[in-house]
Amino acid sequence: MATEFVFTPPPVVSIPVVGQTARFPVHRIYCVGRNYEDHAKEMGFTGREPPFFFMKPADAVVVVPAGETGSMAYPTLTKNLHHEIELVAAIGTGGKNIAAADALKHVFGYAVGLDMTRRDLQNDMKKQGRPWDIGKSFEQSAPIGPIVPAAAAGDVLNAEISLQVGGEDRQRSNVSKLIWNLAETIEHLSAAWELQPGDLIYTGTPEGVAAVVAGDTLVGEVKGLPALRVTIV
Ligand code: MN
Repeated sequence: MATEFVFTPPPVVSIPVVGQTARFPVHRIYCVGRNYEDHAKEMGFTGREPPFFFMKPADAVVVVPAGETGSMAYPTLTKNLHHEIELVAAIGTGGKNIAAADALKHVFGYAVGLDMTRRDLQNDMKKQGRPWDIGKSFEQSAPIGPIVPAAAAGDVLNAEISLQVGGEDRQRSNVSKLIWNLAETIEHLSAAWELQPGDLIYTGTPEGVAAVVAGDTLVGEVKGLPALRVTIV
């Protein structure tokens, strides 16, 4: 007998995969905090800290197909909505206590993502020692482009990463400057949570985070992946 629900369950959140019709179903979204040195500095921190993580709900993604411009509604409560351009790793096979040396075998593919942040609310929460959720984990806070299977993605772990707003550079760095590289991140994450197929890892943002307003168009790129275009409405 088919399972009955008291209301219609939400659809599975999924992301298109370049080169195939099957889509990538999203399980969880993990994000790494302060993972480029010059971004840690601009946020008032120095030195190599152990990696730390926060999450966004799976339905925070805004899926933007290749060649299209997505739209993100300017969120409530904030007057300081920040962009954070990030390389996203999409987990294809799960596991716990994954060693860094084995970690990249668990990656299905890569995408360009934005960790959109209500910075004023996040800063209030930091000051009070409270959780970041209201600053980080709101609806539409995780725009993402299509996933490129790892074998087709080129050397994204050593690729230029950039964000332009209105055609002007805001962020430009290289993924090789991650403090904790992807393999190390997976090792740490999988010690704390059992990774599952469908997990996304937003690996952190380089320096240059700043505010956007309604009407701005953001273009994020990691060389080797389709660009991510989003207009704030
Ligand atoms: Mn981030």
